[in-house]
Amino acid sequence: MQTIKAAVCRAFNEPLVIEDVLLAPPATGEVEVTLDAVAICHSDITFASGAWGGHLPAVYGHEAAGVITAIGDEAGGFKVGDPVVVTLIRACGSCPSCAGGQPTICETPYDTVKGPLQTVDGGPLDQAMACGAFAEKVVVSHRQIVKLPAEMPKDVASLLSCGVITGVGAAVNAAKLRPGQDVVVIGAGGVGLNAIQGARIAGARRIVAVDMTEEKLDIAMEFGATHGVLASQDKPWQAAYKALGGRGADAVLITVGAIPAYDQAPRYLGRGGRAIMIGMPHSGDMSSYEPVVLAALGQGMVGSKMGDVVIQRDIPWMIDLYEQGRLKLDELISGRWSLDQINEAIEDTKTGSAKRNVILFDRG
Ligand SMILES: [Zn+2]
Ligand SMILES: [Zn+2]
Repeated sequence: MQTIKAAVCRAFNEPLVIEDVLLAPPATGEVEVTLDAVAICHSDITFASGAWGGHLPAVYGHEAAGVITAIGDEAGGFKVGDPVVVTLIRACGSCPSCAGGQPTICETPYDTVKGPLQTVDGGPLDQAMACGAFAEKVVVSHRQIVKLPAEMPKDVASLLSCGVITGVGAAVNAAKLRPGQDVVVIGAGGVGLNAIQGARIAGARRIVAVDMTEEKLDIAMEFGATHGVLASQDKPWQAAYKALGGRGADAVLITVGAIPAYDQAPRYLGRGGRAIMIGMPHSGDMSSYEPVVLAALGQGMVGSKMGDVVIQRDIPWMIDLYEQGRLKLDELISGRWSLDQINEAIEDTKTGSAKRNVILFDRG
């Protein structure tokens, strides 16, 4: 066990507490990554609010990048010194879902309370989302990490862990967009902007962003939206039809957690269209739709976790797109903070104006 600094959630809806915690060495199949950067995701905030339950105390944080500093046996060919991005997708590789190419819905349970973290007095400490990356180091499965180019900045790379792969993956893997199709993206936040980028990369004809403020619609246009629709107006789908030349969309990507977005999503669909549910509402929230319309128009609604990505396949091509100037990452970062400032960074993210706030670790 070694002692590291972490931001610990001791009570829901309370500020995180910076304290010393214990980290176990990597077991078989695991690596230790010393972090350079971890981004703050709305999922961290939702967990810290208690809306998804979970054990306390806990260490959240799951969009991280750093350098491997120790490896266990059978570490998948990774070496000490490799720069890597760390994701929350702890897939076993051999269950029916993994074997079928869907590691984001791996069926093998992993007990995060029995993970590598303990409080400094040896008590249980939840390694939330199988990462626990609001900490100087993480110990994770080698299946959760992907090697990075040495020159890639870690703050930028950390974004590939979650928001980027979820948004781009939803457009490419879940919606299976073809060139020329029309897309509506509900929500222009951290995931929504990447869904818009994914639709652009997939060759969408028209990309309509739907959000509550003009400011967010302007940002959506910078990421590839061709039209913006204010969600606050009456029957906003009518404005989307207009933008799409009088028809509904081939795909609607719902990237927010607000239930009205789910209730309204089928309204934006054209005949044969698919609504992809990507955002993560609070547990217990319910939505309703009119089945006869979906049946009569041959439409569908489907959930997608983490953009249905296979990280070993998808993150390397996203890195290439970034290096070719075809995937915007730098522009997604709105602020850089230290671990000691994490509660301020979280508050700033809650205001909704922030794209991604990133915690940088001082490894001096
Ligand atoms: Zn996330
Ligand atoms: Zn599995």
